[in-house]
Amino acid sequence: NAVKSNNFIHQIVEEEISAGKNNGRVHTRFPPEPNGYLHIGHAKSICLNFGTAQKYNGLTNLRFDDTNPSREETEYVDSIMEDVRWLGFNWGDRLYYASDYFDRLFDFAVKLIKEGKAYIDDQDAETISAQKGTPTRPGTESPFKSRTIEENLDLFMRMKAGEFNEGDCVLRANIDMASPNMHMRDPILYRIMKAPHHRTGDKWCIYPMYDFAHGQCDYWEGITHSICTLEFEVHRPLYDWFVDQLKDSDYRPRQIEFSRLNLNYTVMSKRKLLELVKDNHVTGWDDPRMPTICGLRRRGYTPESIRNFAERIGVTKTDGVTDVALLEYSIREDLNKRAQRVMGVLNPLKVVITNCPEGVVDQMEAVNNPEDASMGTRLVPFTRELYIERDDFMEEPPKKFFRLSPGTEVRLRYAYFITCTDVIKDANGEITEIHCTYDPASRGGNSPDGRKVKSTIHWVSASENIEAEVRLYDRLFSDEEPDGHKDVDFKEFMNHDSLQVLPKCYIEPFVKDAKVLDHFQFERLGYFNVDQDSTAGKLVFNRTVQLKDTWAK
Ligand code: ATP
Ligand code: MG
Ligand code: MG
Repeated sequence: NAVKSNNFIHQIVEEEISAGKNNGRVHTRFPPEPNGYLHIGHAKSICLNFGTAQKYNGLTNLRFDDTNPSREETEYVDSIMEDVRWLGFNWGDRLYYASDYFDRLFDFAVKLIKEGKAYIDDQDAETISAQKGTPTRPGTESPFKSRTIEENLDLFMRMKAGEFNEGDCVLRANIDMASPNMHMRDPILYRIMKAPHHRTGDKWCIYPMYDFAHGQCDYWEGITHSICTLEFEVHRPLYDWFVDQLKDSDYRPRQIEFSRLNLNYTVMSKRKLLELVKDNHVTGWDDPRMPTICGLRRRGYTPESIRNFAERIGVTKTDGVTDVALLEYSIREDLNKRAQRVMGVLNPLKVVITNCPEGVVDQMEAVNNPEDASMGTRLVPFTRELYIERDDFMEEPPKKFFRLSPGTEVRLRYAYFITCTDVIKDANGEITEIHCTYDPASRGGNSPDGRKVKSTIHWVSASENIEAEVRLYDRLFSDEEPDGHKDVDFKEFMNHDSLQVLPKCYIEPFVKDAKVLDHFQFERLGYFNVDQDSTAGKLVFNRTVQLKDTWAK
């Protein structure tokens, strides 16, 4: 295969396999913190971790990085598992929690203390941080760095026993306050937090820092490739330092950093997404405008489209911003292949065909998917009264308007030619309906005399239809990088017209038994799916995406 991989991690793995490293074993992990719902950025990481293992016959662990009890909840754990599964990945019985290792991490900390490699510092957080120095100036050593091993052990046990208050003291690694790498300047390993944990309850009042937990968990699980985002590159020497203190063979997990996904016109930090939810700027984590996986699912994105998107953007070490149009392209491409076509009218205008009898006059045969003949055809009822799109009629059309207007003839998709004869208005001059005649000889869309019409419009029978609510979405933010402005809050850039609700739309009867998440293409209007707010009496559709990219003009 001459195509160069757009995934540098796969290249690394292949080189290592050829060299016989880890006996060819590939074992990755996806390590979310359960402090929010997963977003499309996480999807990139999920596809990379599970995808790499699949490609090289390896394994992937799902590990909840639950070391900070103040932000974590079981609701998030459940949603994360649901979303990973929905994306099409399976961790089998390899489900782990960082909190499973609290005892071992504690024992490891004790070992470090016993080796003189960790000490209890009684200074407060501000003092410790002020002593860190700068990248060009060495830090200042804590006056507690010289405590004896016995004293440190005693204090650590008392920390664990709850004898101190939050902030009274921390456990720090005894490394090097002059290291050129700031993360090596005696980093904090444990802090006191008197908060119950979603899994360990009140057992602990000291909790390990992320850096002190992550690499050790990787080591204990036998992870070969610990893939993380670029901001952790500077943490790597510390990651390796801990593994060095722990390892008793040649095996060590290797941390590899890649660039995170950034998408334009949205925000991706869980903290900011939580703010949108809490302050009711959206209806929830699964609002179809959210970049969350559950939001995209509800919007009508398929797992395949998200996986293809992740494949397309590739894996590099260069940070950048990906155009959301690429994500939209991926769903359009997928739904084009699989979505059932139907006709639906969103802004209805009634048409009365005056030379047509009452009742169901005809059943028009319509193609279910021009991309897939095996999906077959269906019948669409044709009646004297129909709805067409208000936009498809103009009483006084400009020159280039080829759709319906008084005196002109158009083709009704899959049906007949119609000609507009009258425009009916109410007392305010609003058009209430239009009257047309149809040519019964033009059945199927061609007239025997070879007469040409310039346009084809969609329609739905006014009596044989399903009434539905349709929700149209625009971008949640009107700015490309809402959180990229120095002194302006990202919420200032919210697009207040991002949701348009059309309460009375008419869809052809085919959708009658549609279930939540079913996809359709409404001809000429875009791809739609059935929303979970649908009831037995009323379907609700979300527009997933328009048929063409109307934004990047
Ligand atoms: P956030 O800043 O949104 O809270 P996070 O990195 O703190 O994200 P985690 O739950 O720790 O969220 O992330 C789990 C995994 O997903 C990590 O390995 C992280 O590197 C990866 N990840 C998070 N955001 C992105 C992103 N935008 N692109 C790629 N990978 C990401
Ligand atoms: Mg994180
Ligand atoms: Mg975070």
